[in-house]
Amino acid sequence: MDEIVSSNFIEDIINEELASGKVSEVVTRFPPEPNGYLHVGHSKSLCINFGIKEKYHGRCNLRFDDTNPTKENMEYVESIKRDIRWLGFEWDEELYASDYFDKIYECAVQLIKDGKAYVCDMSAEEISATRGNLTTPGINSPHRDRSVEENLRLFEEMRAGKYADGTKTLRAKIDMASPNINMRDPVIYRVLHANHWHTGDKWCIYPMYDFAHPISDGIEGITHSICTLEFEDHRPLYDWVKINCGFIPGPRQIEFARLNLTRTIMSKRYLKKLVDMGAVDGWDDPRMPTLSGMRERGYPAPALRDFCGRIGVAKANSEVDAAMLEHCVREYLNVNALRAMVVRNPIKLVLDNVDGAQVFHVAKNPMQPELGLREISFSHELYIDAADFSDNPPPKYFRLKPDGMVRLMGAYIVKYVSHGMEDGKLVVHAEIIPDSAEGGVNAGIKVKGTIQWVDANNCVPLTIREYDYLLDDDTTGRDFDERLMTNSKTVVEGAVAEAGFAATVPYTHYQFVRMGYYMTAKDSTPAHLVVNQVVGLKDSFKPKK
Ligand code: ATP
Ligand code: MG
Repeated sequence: MDEIVSSNFIEDIINEELASGKVSEVVTRFPPEPNGYLHVGHSKSLCINFGIKEKYHGRCNLRFDDTNPTKENMEYVESIKRDIRWLGFEWDEELYASDYFDKIYECAVQLIKDGKAYVCDMSAEEISATRGNLTTPGINSPHRDRSVEENLRLFEEMRAGKYADGTKTLRAKIDMASPNINMRDPVIYRVLHANHWHTGDKWCIYPMYDFAHPISDGIEGITHSICTLEFEDHRPLYDWVKINCGFIPGPRQIEFARLNLTRTIMSKRYLKKLVDMGAVDGWDDPRMPTLSGMRERGYPAPALRDFCGRIGVAKANSEVDAAMLEHCVREYLNVNALRAMVVRNPIKLVLDNVDGAQVFHVAKNPMQPELGLREISFSHELYIDAADFSDNPPPKYFRLKPDGMVRLMGAYIVKYVSHGMEDGKLVVHAEIIPDSAEGGVNAGIKVKGTIQWVDANNCVPLTIREYDYLLDDDTTGRDFDERLMTNSKTVVEGAVAEAGFAATVPYTHYQFVRMGYYMTAKDSTPAHLVVNQVVGLKDSFKPKK
């Protein structure tokens, strides 16, 4: 695979460390918490971590950060693995923070023995109330000076299940006056009588993220622990745990700015809420900004990787226009999608001077001529889109109109004859200009408009699902709840496609000419063809030159 992450400050650090001999093999990890499906924000982290693995011929582990037993489950684990593979990455080892619970417990015991951790009886509220703030130092816990023996006994009792949830914690003994509040004797273990999806009932105490993470990184020999900017203030604690638990020199934590996209929810917690309240049809609803949702919608994985490469890696938070992602999708599909003619809202076009069937041959994809040609049939009766005929045309209307001519894509030029209602439906009559198809002597006649059409004798019906953003475009900071759009999904029945489309299979991408990009939906069958709209043809995004 090509390098997908362009040079950035993380790679600068790695280059320096490789040059100085500080590291020899680069090892990264992607550490999702299995409490939801991955979203487009995670693809940035995936591209960075796996991009580094590829660029430096290093390793990248998939580590499930499963230290929160009440929110995690196997469905999420499986979805995360599927989505990473779909995006095009393969991890070296599949690991679980919970596999390290014994080792993490040992580290805690060693900290107690070294006089660097103590059991505290204060409640979460008391701990928070005595932590101080940016201008005031915290107050020492009354249990801070317990003896090593007492701490060892109490911690063992915590583990043995003697104490109720929330009644005792293990805290690192650092500095209650530290200017960094994360260093004011942070809790590193809590009592939680909960069944863990991976370790069952073995534990009733669980390590906190800030404690488990550096130890997990250390155990795996991670060299660069790459995370998002909100952990910058936690880095001193990361380093404290790393050093005091004996991982020296150990991994280096590097922070980057998380991806934010306009009109896009980027939080598993809120995405879960949408699923739970039934606002969408599950985590893989094509409107969801999850990787599963994007796959079902029809966003190609290479387009997402391309997008991640283009947004780059920086240390300042910002919001990227969702139109840029759509631009990448369009650019990829323009080259890679098959072409087909579809009429969304059909009206009949009767060609008075045509009888008998004819066949034309047009490119499956003009961007990839090597794919060859497809057959499209043509006859006395066609369908065209209702929007492509007007008996009261506005200025510059270059489609079919009274006394006008239009080119039928891939076939003849036709000239209007008449129109009227037949059996309650609008029917337009026209005549073909003989020899006006490609290669014919009249093909060069100047007509301004070209429209798509299908043969009424053998076209196939299809259902089109069209999608809008889940959120409105308000940028004044209202809650997601208030910004949810009620009409983000439209189902269009009654469209018709050229006959060859009957053979489509789920997950095939198309450009429906003059309409946009579509993908055959996962639930499409030959008896009931269904497509999802991926993106329209129009591009509102202007890439920088
Ligand atoms: P969420 O708030 O949506 O649950 P998270 O950060 O808690 O996200 P994790 O499962 O902990 O989700 O994330 C796994 C990795 O993906 C972490 O390294 C995290 O920093 C990264 N990540 C999560 N969201 C983004 C984002 N929007 N942009 C870039 N990286 C992200
Ligand atoms: Mg998280």
